[in-house]
Amino acid sequence: MNDWRSFEAAYPLLGRSLRMAKNAGRLGHSHLVVSSNASIRTRFPVLLAQLAVCLDPAPDGAPCGRCETCSLLENGLYPDLFLLAPTSKSREIVIGKDDSDPDTLRNFESMFHLSSSAPGGWKIGVVQDCDTMNESAQNAFLKTLEEPPRSCLFILTTGHPASLLPTIRSRCQILTLTDNVCRYDMETFAAMPDILMRLTFEAKDDLVAGEDCAAGLIEVLGSLGDMASETVQARWADRLKSAENLESAAMKLLEKRIEGETGCEYLRLREEFLSILHAWFAQIALVAEGTPRELLSNPEVVRVWLDASPRPEITPDEAARMLSEAENLVRVLNTNVSDELAVRAFALSVAIDTQARG
Ligand SMILES: [Zn+2]
Repeated sequence: MNDWRSFEAAYPLLGRSLRMAKNAGRLGHSHLVVSSNASIRTRFPVLLAQLAVCLDPAPDGAPCGRCETCSLLENGLYPDLFLLAPTSKSREIVIGKDDSDPDTLRNFESMFHLSSSAPGGWKIGVVQDCDTMNESAQNAFLKTLEEPPRSCLFILTTGHPASLLPTIRSRCQILTLTDNVCRYDMETFAAMPDILMRLTFEAKDDLVAGEDCAAGLIEVLGSLGDMASETVQARWADRLKSAENLESAAMKLLEKRIEGETGCEYLRLREEFLSILHAWFAQIALVAEGTPRELLSNPEVVRVWLDASPRPEITPDEAARMLSEAENLVRVLNTNVSDELAVRAFALSVAIDTQARG
């Protein structure tokens, strides 16, 4: 999805209706981009912003991708694009103490009170993974959506639209960008299958082995922050190089965008970690109940088990019990508890079946 045309080739109906809305002067001021694909969630807002502010659009409304505003947007230097993203530490967007409280909703909103300095005069606000706004932040933001400042375009993105207040959803035009491929990147998470294999089949009633598996999982989880930052740095390396001589305000903008993307990338990796862990136990439970491997949705996750010879056995009951522990962990980790404590408790309860002991 490099430019508008390639986006429209992938999503013809949506692309066409957005272009037509733009040409008719009816492009909405608030859009909610819904996609389970995190790269789409970071990439598409740039294209949508270009559609809104391009100085030299094609006759059909498509942005040129080359004019001053298109280039500034592409390079993360559009002076009136403001980004709000969950910080990687709290995984949350909060309302904030006052306008100067960084990375908060108040700070973000204060940017829209000043007049625009960008060519064309548009201000663009992007809220990445807006479902991570807590409820008071969502309520506060709702007021802005109800009475938007002039010449502002808000682009919200989410992979979990159900976590948003219905009143936020209904204020926005919903742009759903589906992505049907759901494979896990087992290269990035190469350490997980071996740890999970041990936890599932070798740690039974063994506290030390359970602890050991927990430590392994915690290590993987703990490496995600660095991994996210490396990925995003690599993505921006070329542009950072050519930006060496930028004045400090522009440099700050660029840094802000990189920081926002890093927060989103971290959340994506963390979500994938949890999905793989869940898929591991879910696939095993299916096979234990008699599902043939050809019908598994994610055999790549359990390949090490499927290909083992002899393949360690597990009863359907035992597999179901472990799956429910995994489901519980996913639930717990979606609230703001310590990752480390939750993963330890999980690994120990998989290894040691307290119910069976009575
Ligand atoms: Zn343009």
